[in-house]
Amino acid sequence: MFCHRCGKPLPVAANFCPSCGAPANSTVFAASPLHTMYRPQAQRMIAGVCAAFALRYRWDLTATRIITLLLGVLIFPVMEVAYVVGWMLMPEEVPFGMQPPYAPPAPPPPPVPPSGP
Ligand SMILES: [Zn+2]
Repeated sequence: MFCHRCGKPLPVAANFCPSCGAPANSTVFAASPLHTMYRPQAQRMIAGVCAAFALRYRWDLTATRIITLLLGVLIFPVMEVAYVVGWMLMPEEVPFGMQPPYAPPAPPPPPVPPSGP
C-alpha cells in the first residue's frame, strides 16, 4: 500500500502516512466525493456532470438538471464555472475491466461476400 498523497510506501497497520501525515485508511480516501464520482456515458446531456451528482447522491436526475439550470440563471456565472470545474475534475466512466487510456471498440469488420466456386 502506498500513500495517496505523497506516494511513499506505508506500513501495513499504519493509520497515517509517516512521511506526510495523510490518512492511510483507504475508506477515508474512498469517501472523498471526487474519487467516487464519475461522469456516466449514458444519461448525459452535456458532459454528464449533473448525472454524476445525481448518481453519487441518489438525487433525481431531472430535478438535478432543473435546479442546475435555475441556479445557472439566478447566480450566473457561478454554476457555469462549477460545471466546467466538475467536468475537468471528474473522471469519465470507464467500461468495466478497462483502464484509461483505452482504445475505443473496433468497428465491426465489413461483411465478407460469399465466395463463389
Ligand atoms: Zn504520505
